[in-house]
Amino acid sequence: MKFISTRGGECVTGAQAIAQGIARDGGLFVPEVFPSVSKEEMENMLSMSYAERAATVLHKYLDEYDFDGLKAACEKAYAQFEDGDAAPLVKIDSQLYILELFHGPTCAFKDMALTLLPYLLRKGCDLCGIKEQVLILVATSGDTGKAALEGFKDAEGVKIMVFYPNEGVSKMQKLQMATQEGKNVNVVAVRSNFDDCQSAVKTIFTGESYKEELHKKGYILSSANSINFGRLAPQIAYYFSAYLDLVSSDQIEMGEEVNFAVPTGNFGNILAAYYAKRMGLPVGKLICASNKNNILTDFIRTGVYDKRREFFKTMSPSMDILISSNLERLLFEISGREPERVKLRMDKLAKEGVYQLYDEELAAVQELLWADFCGEDETVETIYEFFEEYQYPMDTHTACAMYAAGNYMAEHSKDKSPMVVVSTASPYKFPQDVMYAVTGNDIKDSFKAIKHLNLATAMKVPKSLSKLRDKPVRFTAVADKNKLYEEVLKFVDKN
Ligand SMILES: *Cc1c(COP(=O)(O)O)cnc(C)c1O
Repeated sequence: MKFISTRGGECVTGAQAIAQGIARDGGLFVPEVFPSVSKEEMENMLSMSYAERAATVLHKYLDEYDFDGLKAACEKAYAQFEDGDAAPLVKIDSQLYILELFHGPTCAFKDMALTLLPYLLRKGCDLCGIKEQVLILVATSGDTGKAALEGFKDAEGVKIMVFYPNEGVSKMQKLQMATQEGKNVNVVAVRSNFDDCQSAVKTIFTGESYKEELHKKGYILSSANSINFGRLAPQIAYYFSAYLDLVSSDQIEMGEEVNFAVPTGNFGNILAAYYAKRMGLPVGKLICASNKNNILTDFIRTGVYDKRREFFKTMSPSMDILISSNLERLLFEISGREPERVKLRMDKLAKEGVYQLYDEELAAVQELLWADFCGEDETVETIYEFFEEYQYPMDTHTACAMYAAGNYMAEHSKDKSPMVVVSTASPYKFPQDVMYAVTGNDIKDSFKAIKHLNLATAMKVPKSLSKLRDKPVRFTAVADKNKLYEEVLKFVDKN
């Protein structure tokens, strides 16, 4: 299978798309065609383990990777998840389910892809005959950074450097990154917000002079952000797996439609659901949930993407984003795969901060997606009320999706399709906020909050978080947003 750039400039293999991360013209790699999964193949997948299902879906896109290698890599990746199930589906009632994607090493859904990306990348480089060391640069709003560091620590032939907004991540997220182990890792806080981190990193990726200088030092650049197709592909698998679990537990018949509600930031997770749908998974509506930073809600309701607005820091920091980079991949599809239109809009967004869809494109977007956003008070209320009713504690991001799903179901009572709310983080990753929502107690210390939340909810504390407390802090650097390349050079030259 070949991959093309959303901006028209390139056509590469899957291995190359992953090794490179982003197209040279600044566009994102997308599959030339969507592979399809037949009903018979779906039937066959029913009895498979999560790892086998994932390998089956991945191999549809990455057909130059050998299947057995992929399967072994998936088995190894998903064996790191606590309690043996990488993506358990929890039944709340006859119409409502929660897909828990937070049982990995860093307690957020990013682990679903980032435990596997090191294999996809190393193998991809081998397939392309790339001999250089790979330098991975990551901009993170909190969860990607840790998951990428954990995935790539001490990986052969790879160095990884993570940038996060100094004031824009939770205490727990910061501590997770600052205490990261591994010889090949570096973490730098940036005096700015996530969007600035992301565009600064993108500037390095697309700057030929930077790339040349690093190449002379023996490095090629790649990305572990969700612009990399290697991040997206493993995420498609859990939509299939959730669906198959609904079928195998007799909740639905094969072929019935299912809705998914996804807490959305960079549009990577929900885009994977769309890709699953394009491959033939019977997906009904996709509920795109935002927090107070509701740019996507406005976009889906009106067709106008306008980033000229205030940026809010919320208790769901991984969704504090104004530029959702993966939206470019959706734009490409709904514009009828016209790279010129994508380019025009991305230029307009960069220069004027706004672009608008044509009416027929907006209609296509609304056919696929329904959007809502959840403010700070509503986040707290949703966690509280859901816990009161079901004794199920949710994290702050998941709460946004639950809130949006509830509103969708209230407004569309005729739509009887099951609703799967995608849970993207463990409540223990945001323990103060969840503790406050559940009990009204405002506990300043993260580890105390974890302990009390455990007492209040009886939900098991993930081992990786309870161990954090005793780990030494290794990274304290803070840099200005226009000095990130200097930090990269320092890191490369030191090693
Ligand atoms: C990254 C993240 C999101 C947003 O996912 P996108 O793929 O960027 O839309 C939501 N919740 C949590 C907990 C996350 O870590």
